[in-house]
Amino acid sequence: MIDRYEVIVVGGGMVGAATACALVQGGVKVALLERFNPERRWPPEPIDIRVSALTKASQNIFEMLGAWPGMVQRGACAYRDMRVWDVRAGGELHFDCADTPFPELGHLVENRTVVAALWDVLDTLPSATCITPAKVIDMQLNESGRQLRLEDGRTLEAELIIAADGRDSALRAMAGIDVTGWDYHQDGLVATISTEKSHQFTAWQRFLDEGPLAFLPLKNGQCSIVWTLSSETSKNHLALSDQDFLQVLEQASGGILGKILGVGPRAAFPLRFQYANRYVDQRFAVCGDAAHAMHPLAGQGVNAGLLDAAAIAELTIQTKHEKRPLSSSRFLRRYERWRKGDNLIMMSSMDVLNKTYSVTAQPFASLRSAGMNRINNTALVKAYFNRYAMGLRDDLPKLAKRQPCW
Ligand SMILES: Cc1cc2nc3c(=O)[nH]c(=O)nc-3n(C[C@H](O)[C@H](O)[C@H](O)COP(=O)(O)OP(=O)(O)OC[C@H]3O[C@@H](n4cnc5c(N)ncnc54)[C@H](O)[C@@H]3O)c2cc1C
Repeated sequence: MIDRYEVIVVGGGMVGAATACALVQGGVKVALLERFNPERRWPPEPIDIRVSALTKASQNIFEMLGAWPGMVQRGACAYRDMRVWDVRAGGELHFDCADTPFPELGHLVENRTVVAALWDVLDTLPSATCITPAKVIDMQLNESGRQLRLEDGRTLEAELIIAADGRDSALRAMAGIDVTGWDYHQDGLVATISTEKSHQFTAWQRFLDEGPLAFLPLKNGQCSIVWTLSSETSKNHLALSDQDFLQVLEQASGGILGKILGVGPRAAFPLRFQYANRYVDQRFAVCGDAAHAMHPLAGQGVNAGLLDAAAIAELTIQTKHEKRPLSSSRFLRRYERWRKGDNLIMMSSMDVLNKTYSVTAQPFASLRSAGMNRINNTALVKAYFNRYAMGLRDDLPKLAKRQPCW
């Protein structure tokens, strides 16, 4: 027997779990498939190395889904300031939550916390079907829907498949959707560190010649670092002893947080610019990293993915409420138009920033820094950048505006 659903979401990471959560609360019969059993319980320390800066818009989505309290309870660290330097030429930017109507600019949350809090909510929703471990290995389109074959031999069918299965999305390939992109030949090296001085609930970012080094505040007083390095330097830095790594990191930090006292495990992630050429196909849509992968220098990847989640859920629920079939390509094309442009602007901005800051020629660096200082001293322009970074743009999905979409 083939189990049939209105929607199957493939991938139970941050974006897929949020999509499923929204759809179920909108009365859609959903199955969420995830190839691994998500981690649900762990000791409070050590903090995991995978951490995300979440925007106000993402927080709004999680609040509407009922997942935010679970994130706060497991540990979310609010950051109130953001300080950015161009080390080569001395340009500086300072964003302060005091210049906004909010008590913070955003939050740092472990990725596993986001996932666990969403899965906790799904557990409380009787109409949510979560199947794990469930690895999709094949997808076929037929007259009544799309059929998915799992590694364990099971077959499931749905009117609509939403793929949130990450940057190397197998479902996207199965749907015949190509990607455009390139490798940055850079890695994002991540680790959790302890510092002599308090992080002051500030996100610190120093643009160095090889790429930005970010110190992101964590709830226990430690910092999460995301250090963009050439693939070669990153490999060398991973191979260093802890003692030697602390030394190079302290030097690169310029002493902003005093001595670097300790470091946990380190890992590096190869960085890529990539977007799906189409976001939709017949009875099929991609969202999150399956649709777009961007440079992490402004911490926007999952925030963009959560806006995809809120948008596709809103349009699917609306289509169902209007008693139109979920096989309709009209609302899928609307989803693509809504999110693809916004994501391309965001990822291209990250790309331009990365390229701009990798130019080391002094005249250019001086010009760049002068631009930064000008922005810093122009309240209106700064307020615009601040709102954009907080995810508070025009044309947000309802959930991101703290409005129900069901
Ligand atoms: C160093 C670094 C720092 C970052 N920092 C930030 C930040 O501060 N803020 C921010 O917004 N973004 C940040 N990002 C980006 C962010 O991590 C990603 O955008 C986010 O993880 C994407 O989430 P996702 O749910 O779309 O995909 P994923 O997290 O990749 O989840 C995909 C899920 O699908 C499952 N899956 C895959 N294939 C199958 C299959 N065949 N069957 C079933 N399940 C499957 C996987 O197991 C996984 O659980 C950062 C990225 C990097 C590399």
